[in-house]
Amino acid sequence: MRDIKEIKGVGAKTVALLNKLYIYTINDLLEHYPFRYEIIKRTDLNKLEDKDKAIIDGKVESVPILLHFRTGINKMNFRLLTTNGPIGISIFNRSFLKSNLKIGTNVIAIGKYDKQKNIITASDLQFGLLTNEEKLVPVYHSTSGLTNKNLNTYVNTALLFHQKDIIDNIPLYLMDKYNFLNKRTALNIAHNPPNQIKLNEALLRLKYEELFTFMFKINYLKTEYQKEDLGIVRNIKEDSLIEVIKKIPFELTLDQKKVINEIIKDLNNKKRMNRLLQGDVGSGKTIVAIIAMYLNSLSGYQSALMAPTEILATQHYNNIKEILNKIDSNINVELITGSLVKKSKNNIYEELTNGNINIIIGTHALIQDEISYKNLGLVVTDEQHRFGVKQRMALRNKGVAPDVLYMSATPIPRTYALSIYGDMDISTIKELPKGRIPIKTYIKTNEEIKDVLNNMYETLKRSEQIYVIAPLIEESDITNLTNVYELKDKMELAFGKNYNIGIIHGKMLAEQKDLIMGEFLQNKINILISTTVIEVGVDVPNATMMVIFDAFRFGLSTLHQLRGRVGRGHKESTCILISDTDSKRLSVIESTNDGFEISEEDFKLRGHGDLFGIKQSGVLNFKIANLKEDYKILLQTKKDSLEYLQNEQYQNDEIRKRLIDSINKD
Ligand code: ADP
Ligand code: MG
Repeated sequence: MRDIKEIKGVGAKTVALLNKLYIYTINDLLEHYPFRYEIIKRTDLNKLEDKDKAIIDGKVESVPILLHFRTGINKMNFRLLTTNGPIGISIFNRSFLKSNLKIGTNVIAIGKYDKQKNIITASDLQFGLLTNEEKLVPVYHSTSGLTNKNLNTYVNTALLFHQKDIIDNIPLYLMDKYNFLNKRTALNIAHNPPNQIKLNEALLRLKYEELFTFMFKINYLKTEYQKEDLGIVRNIKEDSLIEVIKKIPFELTLDQKKVINEIIKDLNNKKRMNRLLQGDVGSGKTIVAIIAMYLNSLSGYQSALMAPTEILATQHYNNIKEILNKIDSNINVELITGSLVKKSKNNIYEELTNGNINIIIGTHALIQDEISYKNLGLVVTDEQHRFGVKQRMALRNKGVAPDVLYMSATPIPRTYALSIYGDMDISTIKELPKGRIPIKTYIKTNEEIKDVLNNMYETLKRSEQIYVIAPLIEESDITNLTNVYELKDKMELAFGKNYNIGIIHGKMLAEQKDLIMGEFLQNKINILISTTVIEVGVDVPNATMMVIFDAFRFGLSTLHQLRGRVGRGHKESTCILISDTDSKRLSVIESTNDGFEISEEDFKLRGHGDLFGIKQSGVLNFKIANLKEDYKILLQTKKDSLEYLQNEQYQNDEIRKRLIDSINKD
């Protein structure tokens, strides 16, 4: 992949700006697609109303008059002769164009009509005349210092001089089958569309390729699992399961029992397990994992449970130890965290190697180099540690190919899950354990903040704790959204005298975050102000209230995840969404506690990009395709890529090899 600095006209300064847009290679640049297209079409001057947008063309009729203001701003006025007669043009800060605007020059002006003065205040001037056809102008996501025009120019230079960097990933027979445009042509059209019809054709081809390569990889992974003959065959009997269930201090739900049986089936057969266990927060996934790990150790194998943070690992450890003590006190469970001193860490390593430890809990460090297991048979990962091929290889290189169970509290719409998790089997827990008190959710406007503060005060008086969520960390000049520091000041003012207020956000170091969460857990902090970092989070049963500022900013799934932080104890919990707009969408959260229903709704409204966890996980960073709009293309590419993968004829295909290579590099 060649660097963008090789493009003519792109110097160090521009490279820095492009890097800001995550453009590093020529290929990145070519795939920096416009996010929309502006339709340029001549407006009829006679039909213009005040403040209408106007696009007109004509010849310069008067010498431009330049005015300089003390503020450093300048303004230029001239008249343009159009086919509908003359009109005045006014434009700010383009004094440098004056010498080019000679009388008789052809000019296109885009701007806003001022009826009273009968002028157009232009935001853009171009040289030339409009054609009678409408024109599509690409609009890019950009950054200050880099214009739309600049980006388009660099792309076009790359298209002209760096054709070798264009990588085409659609196999020839599919190109033929669909009569697709070649990639360079398609890219050229996407960045310089001649008309809507051509543009649609180009976009279809580019989306197809993106989804095809994506589905190819998923299909490949799936076939690889099925091929593996390394899987462990256990012989777990129904009796031992019944024995375990008897000792658990509560009655398992039907869904929990169903899922446990699905897992046992996987553990008992030769195929390696690659299963996603999804269920809402609090639906009781952990107990399922505990039973699986316990049965695994009865079969003579070790288990590892990975959590996203040390604090969560510690929490899991305490919880698991307590339950396992009731089931079978001979099982040796250990916790490994960064804060353990070297010596005890070495002890743990040793006991993992000699098999003394049956179940180990920790972060993803559990599958890294230093650790060697005696016989790791099952890995459970909590929350979207969808580890890639590299990590799986790391495990296999140690001589182990354990069964893997992924737990996720992010419900994913069914149709959608089938494609993106196509390489996994999916188990679902829908039913919540009996006796859960549903969280009460309300939408409030900023005007009603007083009620909210009163409500908070009541909560604090009962010695219960509160989460307060803001969309931003610090002040930003582009938005006027609430940030955590501003909220801290407000909360200090309201409650600071009698209560402790803490802050936690994503830019803090992991240790800092753990420290703050620890204090909150111990009720040393009464109000915790946070960004969405607590989405995946800690169990603080005494936190019974959550207030989310600027709730309209969040996707429904994210709001639901956030809300899942409360309602974890025996007391009634409340969640308040503060928002002055968007109440129709937010009312979905108000009216249901069902994560699946919410994620379906979210998907309908906003597409995949906002489903919590997916964006962050980086699994689905599509550049041009949109899973919601292009779902049918996705289904087609699923079929096509499987055929391509399996058909003997294509085993030595260049593209096939390249795609497989890129998976192994992920
Ligand atoms: P999840 O991991 O799915 O968010 P947990 O496994 O942490 O949920 O379960 C939440 C709480 O519910 C835990 O305290 C757990 O012991 C309890 N629990 C799990 N299953 C049941 C059940 N069937 N009946 C009652 N309580 C349960
Ligand atoms: Mg198996």
